[in-house]
Amino acid sequence: MKVIKKVEEMQQWSESVRKRGETVGLVPTMGYFHEGHLSLMETAGQMCDHLVVSLFVNPAQFGENEDLDAYPVDLDRDYKLAEEKGASVVFAPPREEVYPERFQTSVALASLPRHLCGLDRPVHFGGVATVVTKLFNIVGPQVAVFGAKDFQQLQVIRQLVKDLNFNIRIVGNPIVREADGLAMSSRNVYLSTDERASALSLSRSLELAEGLIRDGGKDAAAIRAKVVELITGFDHTAIDYVAVCDPDTLEDVDSVTAPVLVALAVKVGTTRLIDNRVIDPAQ
Ligand code: AMP
Repeated sequence: MKVIKKVEEMQQWSESVRKRGETVGLVPTMGYFHEGHLSLMETAGQMCDHLVVSLFVNPAQFGENEDLDAYPVDLDRDYKLAEEKGASVVFAPPREEVYPERFQTSVALASLPRHLCGLDRPVHFGGVATVVTKLFNIVGPQVAVFGAKDFQQLQVIRQLVKDLNFNIRIVGNPIVREADGLAMSSRNVYLSTDERASALSLSRSLELAEGLIRDGGKDAAAIRAKVVELITGFDHTAIDYVAVCDPDTLEDVDSVTAPVLVALAVKVGTTRLIDNRVIDPAQ
C-alpha cells in the first residue's frame, strides 16, 4: 500500500491506473477509523480494482468553535487498517497541499444545506462539497462510497455529482452501530462513561419513532414531540434538532404518508452526535 501526500503524485497514480483500464473506488474520510469506515472500504474494494482511502481533516468544513484542533488522529493505526482492507493507496495530504496560498474557490449548494445540520453549521456543507469536488478531481474514481450516518452529506454529494456532471457512481452504505445501538463515530471517544450511557438516547429515540410510525402514527409533530421527550429524559443531553422530513429534499413533513427521514443532532456533554433512520410507513 502506498501513502501519497502530494496532489500531483496522486493524480499521476490514478492516470496510470486508468491507462491500464483499471477502476478506482474512493472512500473519503477524516481518519481515526472505526468499523463504519471499514465497511465503506469493503464496499469500494469489492466494486473496483483499486481502493483509495483519503484521509484529510478538512478545515473548511469546521466552524470557528468546533473541534477541528481536537479532532482525534492516529495515522499509523489508520494506515494499518486501510492496508488490511486491501487499500492500494491512502491519500493523506497536508492542509497546504489541499488549500495552497490564495485558494479561493468554493462549491455551494442552494437548498440542501439549509436544513438539519446546516442550520447550526452554516459553513459545513460548503466545505464538504468543495473538498469532495477536489478529491474527485485528484483521485478520479469511478465509484465513491459514503456512509448513511451522514445522511445529509450523502444527499449533498449525490446532488453535486448530478449538478456538476461527475461521471462517478455514488454508493451509500448503511450505518454501522455498536452492539447497544450507538452509531459508530470518531467523536465517540470524547464521551465520558456517563455521557456514553446518555448517547444511547439517539438510537433509542429512532426505535421509538419507528415503532410509532409502524403502529400507524402519521402526525409528524406528535412523533417529534415523543422523540424530544425521550432524549431530554437522559442526563447531559441538549437537542440541536429533531426532524421528520422528506428523505430527498430534507424539507419537514406534516404527515407521514410516505417514507420519512427521522434525523437527530444532540449534544451529549460537549460532544455533538448525529443519527438518523429512514422509516417507511408501508412496511
Ligand atoms: P468521517 O471520517 O467521519 O468524515 O466519515 C467518513 C465516512 O465514513 C463518511 O462517509 C461517513 O458517513 C462514514 N461513516 C462514519 N461513521 C459511520 C458509521 N457509523 N456507519 C457507516 N458509515 C459511517
